[in-house]
Amino acid sequence: MNLFVILIIVLAVIIIFSYQAKKNKKKKGEVVVREIQKLYWKLNDTVIPLYNFKKCPTCGSKAMNIRNISPTGKSIEYSCEHCDEVLSCTLISGKNPRKAMHIQEEIKMKIIELRALIGDEIHNKNIDITFKIN
Ligand SMILES: [Zn+2]
Repeated sequence: MNLFVILIIVLAVIIIFSYQAKKNKKKKGEVVVREIQKLYWKLNDTVIPLYNFKKCPTCGSKAMNIRNISPTGKSIEYSCEHCDEVLSCTLISGKNPRKAMHIQEEIKMKIIELRALIGDEIHNKNIDITFKIN
């Protein structure tokens, strides 16, 4: 075999491997997206009975998105799904925010993991984070 043929074979192998690696990352990314989605559903179910959520004072919508639970868990920042107004409310007295805070941390870790896998494509992922208050 001459050197040129060997070079072509080596190049082909490199291309196939890098293509496979990219495909694997994308697949792993899809798994992480589904995990994040499940964590958001869990977080939404967990926070609803814990905090004094109010409907949006601007548009009256009850569809909300969690933005951030405070470091102490005593308050939560959320926003209206409809008009994006940012709202906050406090923990109902006697309730323990620990589980919700833990899930929020899990979501943050998963988002870091996802960003490492698929980079800026993360913005194209449709993760439904909306929940309805009573
Ligand atoms: Zn609104």
